[in-house]
Amino acid sequence: MKYLGIAPARPKIGVFDFTGCEGCELQLANKEETLGPFLDAIDIVNFREVTTAQGDDYDIALIDGCISRGDEIERLKKIRQNAKVLVAVGSCASFGGVNRMKNVLDLAEANTEVYGKEFKETLYTRSIKEAVKVDLEIPGCPVSKAEVERIVQHLVWNVAFQFPNYPVCLECKQRFSTCRMEMGELCLGSITRGGCNAPCPAGGLGCWGCRGPAPAPNYKEFLALAERKGMDMQLLAERLNFFGGFEGVLK
Ligand code: SF4
Ligand code: SF4
Ligand code: SF4
Repeated sequence: MKYLGIAPARPKIGVFDFTGCEGCELQLANKEETLGPFLDAIDIVNFREVTTAQGDDYDIALIDGCISRGDEIERLKKIRQNAKVLVAVGSCASFGGVNRMKNVLDLAEANTEVYGKEFKETLYTRSIKEAVKVDLEIPGCPVSKAEVERIVQHLVWNVAFQFPNYPVCLECKQRFSTCRMEMGELCLGSITRGGCNAPCPAGGLGCWGCRGPAPAPNYKEFLALAERKGMDMQLLAERLNFFGGFEGVLK
């Protein structure tokens, strides 16, 4: 669409998948009510899930998934060279995501267990920023399409995007959900970045921390509260480890 006879600049975007379930890419192709305007605002030159185009003249590279093989590092470095802006999309790309759970295993032993003699290359999981420079990370498993749309708008306008600077608890309270911690159930909402509108506590689950740490999380108080509430410390360790965003919180 033109305004005053001038067509708006449409940034060229490439979307690339690495190790992950590709759910974050699927999110980009979802949400039909806004898909038309979203695609109007950008020029997709490479995105395996939605087009056969395989251009390498993109301004913005959106990276879905983490690094778990050597060839992925080489491919990622080439994408980094081509892109003016590189964005890690989703928890896998931002922290390693669920794939990071394997980092506590002996990989040779796990490989034999899963593949027998058909040994497959597998490295300890790395986030995208552990391999190349990342300009922006969008957390979530999967990412929120609405948040990605807003971020792409900001990239088009060249205006900095401000992520929510409060924890999940704030949106949970706005929804009048009953606090799972008060019910004796584990919830990471107080240390996790908000912006998802707290669907998990509203649906009867504690937050699992898919959006990673909130700004300035008070881990000391959270761990003390979990202990006072008699939470299972093994469960707490597994939950903190689940999406890879809280590595090192439990020393
Ligand atoms: S962050 Fe979640 S939805 Fe996105 S690719 Fe990883 S596992 Fe899939
Ligand atoms: S349920 Fe979780 S997110 Fe909601 S108020 Fe309690 S601790 Fe916070
Ligand atoms: S409530 Fe927690 S686990 Fe659920 S979507 Fe939000 S950040 Fe992710």
